[in-house]
Amino acid sequence: MSFELPKLPYEYTALEPHIDARTMEIHYSKHHQAYVTNLNNAIAGTDAEKLSIEDICKNISKYSAPTRNNGGGHFNHSLFWSIMGPNKGGNPSGKLAEAINHDLGGMDKFKEEFNKAATTRFGSGWAWLCVKDGKLAVCSTPNQDNPLMDISECKGTPILGLDVWEHAYYLNYQNRRPDYCAAFWNVINWDEVNKKYEAAL
Ligand code: MN
Repeated sequence: MSFELPKLPYEYTALEPHIDARTMEIHYSKHHQAYVTNLNNAIAGTDAEKLSIEDICKNISKYSAPTRNNGGGHFNHSLFWSIMGPNKGGNPSGKLAEAINHDLGGMDKFKEEFNKAATTRFGSGWAWLCVKDGKLAVCSTPNQDNPLMDISECKGTPILGLDVWEHAYYLNYQNRRPDYCAAFWNVINWDEVNKKYEAAL
């Protein structure tokens, strides 16, 4: 068994003007593909070949640095593509909206906290909305780490993630990471985030 690049659920142009087609194409077909290829090479012939990517992440301290970097890269990007879509954005509804009000002080406070996590992450990494002990929490991780990993300072089940590596925005936004983070809210597929929230509870 080896890991495969998951099918992108929309066209490269689908998230324009917020995320441009060229960035999407390179990010998905080159960067994510490289994480998948390098992950498969890193785990070839080991017991990790029989595990899900979630289970590899949860026990990442037992594995090599290439498995951590590329396994994280594969999980993180798979989640990232799934929680975006064309003609999305707006506000969440249902149980997730209630939880954002209850656990994070409302949508405005959540956006502020998430944008802060994304813009202040030094160098490369990710901002996350997670479920931890039944409650929502916002945090960030460096490189391709994620909150599933046993070595992560920030732990939980991620339900929304934003890639803040320069490869995710530099073609369109150059050094303006805050503009990219602001644009992200226009492409979030809240129905999918809601599904992940209910599954994580
Ligand atoms: Mn990326």
